[in-house]
Amino acid sequence: MKIAVPILTYHSNNVMGNDYHNNDHIALAHDLSVIHRLGFKIISLSTLLDWYQGRLPDQEVAQSVVLTCDDGSWFDYYDIDHPHFGPQRSFFNIIKDYSHTTGDQVHLSSFVIVSPDGRIVLDQTCLAGNGWWTDDWWQEAQKSGLMSIENHSWDHNHIAFHQNVNHDQSFKTVDNQKQCDYQLRQSQTYLNKHMVLSSCYFAYPYGNFSDYLKNQYLPEQARDLGLEAAFTTEARAVTKDCQLWAMPRFVCGEAWHTSDEFERILLSFGSPKKGLF
Ligand SMILES: [Zn+2]
Repeated sequence: MKIAVPILTYHSNNVMGNDYHNNDHIALAHDLSVIHRLGFKIISLSTLLDWYQGRLPDQEVAQSVVLTCDDGSWFDYYDIDHPHFGPQRSFFNIIKDYSHTTGDQVHLSSFVIVSPDGRIVLDQTCLAGNGWWTDDWWQEAQKSGLMSIENHSWDHNHIAFHQNVNHDQSFKTVDNQKQCDYQLRQSQTYLNKHMVLSSCYFAYPYGNFSDYLKNQYLPEQARDLGLEAAFTTEARAVTKDCQLWAMPRFVCGEAWHTSDEFERILLSFGSPKKGLF
């Protein structure tokens, strides 16, 4: 059987209520219970890439999922009392609770927006302006062994800093060396030299990219940057046919909106416990 592993992506800043469809914390906690019930294993992104590169056999990743999250605010790591929607359990604590309750292994790769000044602006424009987008938790999170901190660009090419760029274009406009260095090289330097982390994966903001970035800059500069793969938001599973610099991911709220839709996606990869419930 051909191995296909879905990478699932959540956004901890997505708190627009306290229901599955408008709160990624509720969705993640629920989806973990479905993953467990259906008998899927959670593996890390690096385990998946080890398999993709031929360093691990198929059985290590068969019937597995990978967890990722994007943007990297305090909602990833700290429990926060949301001004409108009350206490929110962090992604970190949700996976920790899951691991304690089930005994299952769990891992979450958090793709963070790297620019410290950029995060101050985004905290004011996209969150409540309470200083909830700092990087003081990155090293602790990584040391826990439950999370790793990865690169989601310097400033997301966000409209707050680049006024002519909309969501659909985003990283399609990052198409020359100067802009790629601005978004990728300086963020890798901050993560790995300044913060002494070990970021080796990049997730394209809004999932899109220029041909130059994917086909030229990344393949040519990868070794120097310390990057090993890049990830889009194309809703399909990773197979050995996928391209290293455009690995697909299923995004909560885009690829699925309800727990039924989520379960259907998982079951399309075959349930290890099929017939047992
Ligand atoms: Zn993002």
